[in-house]
Amino acid sequence: MLRVYGVWFLTSLRYLLSVRDIMMAMLHHCSIPLARVAVRPSPRTRAAISFATASSPRATPQSQVLLGLSENDLQKLAIDFGQQGFRGKQLYHLIYKRKVRDIQEFVQVPLAFRNELEEAGWKVGRSPIFNKVVATDGTIKLLLKLEDNRLIETVGIPVEDDKGSVRLTACVSSQVGCPLRCSFCATGKGGFSRNLRSHEIVEQVLAIEEVFKRRVSNVVFMGMGEPMLNLKAVLEAHHCLNKDIQIGQRMMTISTVGVPNTIKKLASHKLQSTLAVSLHAPNQKLRETIVPSAKSYPLDALMKDCKEYFQETNRRVSFEYALLAGINDSVDNAVELAKLLHEYGSGYHVNLIPFNPIEGSEFRRPYRKAVQAFVNALESAKITTSVRQTRGLDANAACGQLRNNFQKNPLVTDSDNLESQLPNMDLAVTS
Ligand code: SAH
Repeated sequence: MLRVYGVWFLTSLRYLLSVRDIMMAMLHHCSIPLARVAVRPSPRTRAAISFATASSPRATPQSQVLLGLSENDLQKLAIDFGQQGFRGKQLYHLIYKRKVRDIQEFVQVPLAFRNELEEAGWKVGRSPIFNKVVATDGTIKLLLKLEDNRLIETVGIPVEDDKGSVRLTACVSSQVGCPLRCSFCATGKGGFSRNLRSHEIVEQVLAIEEVFKRRVSNVVFMGMGEPMLNLKAVLEAHHCLNKDIQIGQRMMTISTVGVPNTIKKLASHKLQSTLAVSLHAPNQKLRETIVPSAKSYPLDALMKDCKEYFQETNRRVSFEYALLAGINDSVDNAVELAKLLHEYGSGYHVNLIPFNPIEGSEFRRPYRKAVQAFVNALESAKITTSVRQTRGLDANAACGQLRNNFQKNPLVTDSDNLESQLPNMDLAVTS
């Protein structure tokens, strides 16, 4: 049955993706062997290196990156460069604790070793911050400019809890753009370029820490892209964030709109992180009109996979539901949603997201009264519900919006001059 859904999904994806997009997605799932330095990599090094050398759609030579390597890997790397093992420990400390951006800034490391690393094509793997927008509520949205000139969004959200301590959540992207084109999402409207490499996910957290000058406490994979279409890199990044950047697994959330066969795969890793599933509708018919990829992954199959995820991991699935005025926000919709969730068991949570208006969208944000009525209907059916506070609305907070302002075309060519594309924005642009 799942295989059938897989075939449906691929067939639909073919319509969703242009031929160019498919080729790029394929290129980014391939890797070519490394031939430059005589390094004997461990499995994790190997994974990082194969990602590092995968050819880009424009065949831009990609550097080998240190970010993402474990302490063991870095020790082996140092030894392979004729250094003593402790130099690897130093590299580890400089990358993950001191969060140094550039090999030449590794001042504790001998200059000759730094030069050799650079000559062999190694980089730390940190991208420049291309733009920074600060919202009045303290939310900061960054655009990072990747090695191939593509721009990705990452958002830092400071939240003060009841006891006065402040959490800092990083909302990270997993792809450049998104091929799934949910009807209300700005990222989908901007098209899809490629999957992010694992270090490009990790570096977003480091960029947020750098800008806020404090540690990130929570990570949500809710930025640009569909994490389950880039699961390998997402899992590698998750591992690095947990082991090397020391963010607890329970402090991380992976959000998906649903890709056949991937929830099961994720469950097999038995992560202690939260799985968030973007539902947006209580029935298949309505969901298909909001989420085109739902045609390839029927709601009952998705719900069954969520139930099995809970059974396998004992972790409660959180359902996200973007409230679109007059489309999916009636009390009847809420009652139907509660019924659906009860059918598939208990232990669910619903996170309502009142629509964040995006440019050129026909959707509207519901009035507060309608949101409250929806909450009441769910709560009276004993479904625990939260409403996502709209953060940084003045900073183009809806997914993909900021990047679209700068880069309408997701495929940047060498000749593109990003600076010349800056629109006149009524925003606090500070970088
Ligand atoms: N592809 C993943 C991550 C996407 S962003 C997923 O679909 O889960 C995280 C959440 O923000 C998703 O639930 C997404 O549907 C929602 N979202 C995107 N654009 C939005 C908007 N303009 N208003 C409200 N929610 C939005």
